[in-house]
Amino acid sequence: MNTIVDENKVMYRLITAFALVLLGAIWIISSLSNVSYKVEDNMAMLVQDHLPKLDTIYAVQSNVKTHELILYNYYETTDSLVYQMKWQANLLKMEQLLSKLDKSFVNEVNQYLISLNSIAQAFDAEMQHPETDWDELRNQLSASTKISDEFNLQLSEHTKSLRSSFKHYSDNTETLIAKMVISQIAFSGFVLVLLMVLAFVLKGMLKQHKINRELALYPEQNPYPIIRLDKSREPIYLNPAALNLAQTLNCIDAPSKLLPTDNEQQIFAIKSEQDSYNSNHYLLGNRMFSAIFHHTSNDDSVYAYLLDVTDRVKAENELIHRSNHDLLTGLPNRRHLEEVLKLKTQRSLTPFTLAFIKVSGLDLVNASLGHEMSDKVLQAMSQRLENFINHVSDGELGLYSFESSSWVVICNNSAPPLHAKQLGDNLLSLFASALSIGDLGLTMHCTVGLTTFPQGGSDAEQLLRNADTALRQGIKEGSSVRLYSEDLTEQATRLLAIEQGLKHALEKNEFILNIQPKVDTQTGQFVGGEVLIRWQYNDMYISPAEFIPIAEESDLIIGIGEWVLTTACKQWVKWSDEGLEPQKIAVNISARHFIQTGFVDYVNHTLIETGMPPSFLELEITEEVASANPEKLIETMMKLKELGLSLAIDDFGTGYSSLSYLMQFPIDTLKIDKAFVTNMANSDNDAALVRMIMSLAKELKLDVVAEGVETEGEHKALAALGCEYIQGYYFYKPMSLDSYKALLSA
Ligand code: C2E
Ligand code: CA
Ligand code: CA
Repeated sequence: MNTIVDENKVMYRLITAFALVLLGAIWIISSLSNVSYKVEDNMAMLVQDHLPKLDTIYAVQSNVKTHELILYNYYETTDSLVYQMKWQANLLKMEQLLSKLDKSFVNEVNQYLISLNSIAQAFDAEMQHPETDWDELRNQLSASTKISDEFNLQLSEHTKSLRSSFKHYSDNTETLIAKMVISQIAFSGFVLVLLMVLAFVLKGMLKQHKINRELALYPEQNPYPIIRLDKSREPIYLNPAALNLAQTLNCIDAPSKLLPTDNEQQIFAIKSEQDSYNSNHYLLGNRMFSAIFHHTSNDDSVYAYLLDVTDRVKAENELIHRSNHDLLTGLPNRRHLEEVLKLKTQRSLTPFTLAFIKVSGLDLVNASLGHEMSDKVLQAMSQRLENFINHVSDGELGLYSFESSSWVVICNNSAPPLHAKQLGDNLLSLFASALSIGDLGLTMHCTVGLTTFPQGGSDAEQLLRNADTALRQGIKEGSSVRLYSEDLTEQATRLLAIEQGLKHALEKNEFILNIQPKVDTQTGQFVGGEVLIRWQYNDMYISPAEFIPIAEESDLIIGIGEWVLTTACKQWVKWSDEGLEPQKIAVNISARHFIQTGFVDYVNHTLIETGMPPSFLELEITEEVASANPEKLIETMMKLKELGLSLAIDDFGTGYSSLSYLMQFPIDTLKIDKAFVTNMANSDNDAALVRMIMSLAKELKLDVVAEGVETEGEHKALAALGCEYIQGYYFYKPMSLDSYKALLSA
């Protein structure tokens, strides 16, 4: 289309150039003729006026001289007759000459002639006189010479002025001719430049013409269907691809069927080159098409280019699906969830419940069994959730995958059994039994945080945040289902502050170590201590029970754990160097740190670096570590044992590790959790469990430490059961390193 615009432009340019040349030529011709008229005038003036005048003046000069000569002749010959004849003849000649000259000039000449005549008459009279006075005659002759000389001088002035006028005309003519030559040269230059420009433009046009010719072939060779519509927008031409399509669709007699049906107005609306119209997608047979309409102005026709967009639409739909679904589980993803929540919260106040489900320990599965396994775990869990959703609800429940290890369930119905708390319990119960993945049976633990709309959050962001808050609180409290309440927001704010503070606590030296002595149950003698971390953060004392789980959610726990181990070892060596006997110290190791690859090397390195004897170091790990990959855990434990240190299982009885594995663990000590110690007196169950642990420990030849012993009663009961060691407020509370040192010195 553009080529026509270009051609028009070129035509305009050519016409302009032509007009310019024409105007230039007219100007040159007119100025040439003007100049030649002027030159002609000048020449005429010179030839017809100035030259004859000059000749005449010369003739007058010689005539005056002749008069003088005639007088001299007369004086010599004294022949009066000859003199008379010659004088008259010369006067006649003078008259003839004067007739050719201007009047003013004639007057001037006449004056001289009169003076000369009067001298001539006096001369003639004296010559005729019988007593000729020759002196007088000579005087008169010299007077005549004087007059003719004066006259000649006067005449010379005239010829001079005539000559200068002559020069003026000839100069003028020269200038005119020079001007003419210059304008001719300029004009020729201009024409030359113009010709060059024209040549350039023509070259471009030829090229464009060639392209246009090739473009004309374009529809014929184009593999896509092209249809040309005439003024009344009826198809008048179909390229081979369009014919083919029409044949396939059996509409060769009515090719307009190939065009989208809803476009008549738009097609008629396109009236200029710039206008084009893209149709919506439409079906032709079982393929999806889209048409682009373009106008061509020469004949007000419209070209329709048809595109088969089936594959593109499919790919687009696929992309949309992908962007809204989780790749791993195939469930609608967070993005989709946020959209849904946005719609639900903006449109109405219909209440609904949002449950946030998070699986814990997945990073342990990941680290010990690999990503593939944790993916399978997530898939299996998603499957259970999906079955539940499909089974229970008829559109009441929606399931979404939320980030890597959590799900969100939205429930529109708050009647039992879908009441919020009940929904949480139901969801949890889905994971009570082990997941069978390959030949492994894995039990995964979940926590559910719940919130309701509109009380527990008025928009998508708030709802998700509150459900998450409830979930974190649940994890912290050890309750598996937690409903959001407003006071949780406050706690969540604190949590966030702790998270932020933790990031800089190490570099700001905000951590210190405490140590809690352990004593021999029978003798009350102290036998070592457990190192416990303390954090002073902005005038607040924050308990490790609060910040350690937060640190465990990120890599921060690694740095903290390393700091504790190194500091404890250095402290032990220092005391020992000071001549004290610090006995065995126990250091808590987070599960996440323990399963980190290179952990054993790290411990070994620390022992060497600090000079800590391994036999005085005990590492406490929780049962939690054991649940994911017992084989790998055993391997790590073996290696640590080879270094020469002892291992203890902390909080024993609260975890879920199977006893069969426990027997394979190369451990030295079991630490009975405070909860059992405290409940022993009231609960038969707990008492039985403690007894069982004691007998198991004996069987496995393990030491047992009872934690959290606060009363004499507890002490006695444990002593009666044969528990070797005790750690608790009843004997010692955790104390500063200085206090511990004082204890050692005593
Ligand atoms: P834990 O390893 O079970 O440590 C024992 C906790 O029980 C300590 O709390 C201790 O002060 C407390 N305790 C001892 N005797 C009694 C008693 O008679 N009555 C009561 N009510 N409590 C008693 P703490 O120091 O607040 O530590 C809490 C938890 O934080 C620890 O539990 C441990 O899991 C973790 N933790 C502490 N320090 C470290 C550390 O350096 N590294 C790691 N990874 N975790 C640590
Ligand atoms: Ca401990
Ligand atoms: Ca413990």
